[in-house]
Amino acid sequence: MKWVRFKKGNCEYTAFLAEETLHAVEGDIYTGDWHKTGELFLLAEVELMAPCRPTKVVCIGLNYRDHAQEMGEALPAEPILFLKPPSAVIGAGQFILYPEWIGRMDYEAELAVVIGKRGKNIAAGDAWQHIFGYTCGNDITARHLQKKDGQWSRAKSFDTFCPLGPWIVTEIDASALDISLTVNGELKQQSSTTQLVANPAQLVAFVTRVMTLEAGDVILTGTPAGVGPLKPGDSVTVRIGSVGELTNTVIAES
Ligand code: MG
Repeated sequence: MKWVRFKKGNCEYTAFLAEETLHAVEGDIYTGDWHKTGELFLLAEVELMAPCRPTKVVCIGLNYRDHAQEMGEALPAEPILFLKPPSAVIGAGQFILYPEWIGRMDYEAELAVVIGKRGKNIAAGDAWQHIFGYTCGNDITARHLQKKDGQWSRAKSFDTFCPLGPWIVTEIDASALDISLTVNGELKQQSSTTQLVANPAQLVAFVTRVMTLEAGDVILTGTPAGVGPLKPGDSVTVRIGSVGELTNTVIAES
């Protein structure tokens, strides 16, 4: 299924997408305790929001071999964790705000894992029961600040620096999905989730040794090679196999 959150007028809805029609639901999509309200909308006529409301976005650094190489970094012995605040999350079609004083700002196409069930110390073998589905993510990064600060909190945490969407796709196998990114239609990143160093199940196990993951939380699984800068006016699209396409436009922050 494809799960969407959207706005229409002053109201916010959760719905599943069938063909081009959104079927609004009430209840908890994560537990399965939901029902259709009977309200129908056309996808083209609504304003999409991020498809989930994470209490935290846990990100993985250097999880593709080719990206570690281009950054001149050795592959870490264990995944590198960092966080993005919920205030950074935006949906498909919403603007990425660029504060000019930060210098270089980069895109990073990433497979986003959406958690469906609360858990701590989840074994990798049980992790699939805690993964609700997948969406596209873009780990927007203030590259100069990341290098200058020596740690990544400031560089990764600006408002709008975590586009997610357009929807959560459930019941798919994420082990061999094509992942690519274009800027203004020009191909910049192209890889496959077969190149991940740690897979989603291993990441759920690794992260939950540290912190409880809640339904709706997100793990951004890292980016492949080809990262590069964005400027105001750019349209950036993340495409992931059977998941979908996430497009956002950059504007200067006024
Ligand atoms: Mg990243």
